[in-house]
Amino acid sequence: MTAANDRTAALPPTCDFVALDFETANRDWTSICAVGLAFVAGGRIVANPSWLVRPPEMIFDPGFVRIHGITADQVADAPEFGDLWPLLAPHMEGRIIVAHNAEFDVNVLIRSLDRYRIPRPSAEYSCTKIIAQRTWPGLKRYGLAALAERNGIVFRHHDAGEDASVCAQVAIRACLEKGAADFASLHEGLRITRGRIYPDGHDPLREEPAASPLPAFGRWDSRLHARPEQLKRQQRARTLDDAVVDRAAGTGMINGYAVTLDSCTCADFQGRKTPCKHIYKLYFELNNGC
Ligand SMILES: [Zn+2]
Repeated sequence: MTAANDRTAALPPTCDFVALDFETANRDWTSICAVGLAFVAGGRIVANPSWLVRPPEMIFDPGFVRIHGITADQVADAPEFGDLWPLLAPHMEGRIIVAHNAEFDVNVLIRSLDRYRIPRPSAEYSCTKIIAQRTWPGLKRYGLAALAERNGIVFRHHDAGEDASVCAQVAIRACLEKGAADFASLHEGLRITRGRIYPDGHDPLREEPAASPLPAFGRWDSRLHARPEQLKRQQRARTLDDAVVDRAAGTGMINGYAVTLDSCTCADFQGRKTPCKHIYKLYFELNNGC
């Protein structure tokens, strides 16, 4: 556990967004035993403080201790969240907060503030799990550990500071992957409406329907076209310019391969039996580039 209570000087005055992670001692939303933050400015993490926190009741569920390794002894002298908050509040007010499975962390935050009778900040929030689902569709798993592994990030899972850091790094990679100018515009591109916390309530984050994949054509189901490897073939198809198409027959010669909407003579198609870039090129040609 790297949480420490002496890193407050590291809190930066400005940032683009703040990644947040809570660990709790038991099932109770307000049983915070650790909090980690990662401040991102200019596309990099500029501060990554974390704190051990003494929950209002010293009830440490063994199942939770197994996950994060934090015991009652470790937090006996730590501040309660209500005492820590005045330090954090100026760094959350008006910011975009991001967490992995944000509904959990936002609920922990709101319920804990309510419990200590502290007014909620005004802030927006987002979720890296939903961002990742929209940025890298078709993965088997979207847990923090799976996303870290996929992005070559080594970390100790369920350490609040490290979890917040990985959350921030996933958000940064998503911005790079999508070519987003900043974290806010990433959401517009992904059709995610950020949630809002305000002093007397909160609005949940909303996922607008993703841009629909190509429709079914030939013998192919539309869900097939939404797979990441198929999306790449569609992108490559847009770069092909050697295409002679017989519109009436619905066939073509593309880069020297004989293509129908159902088949192609290229090695990619013969090996995988899923639409290759030539089949997509033919589809786009027959549908006037759409
Ligand atoms: Zn082909």
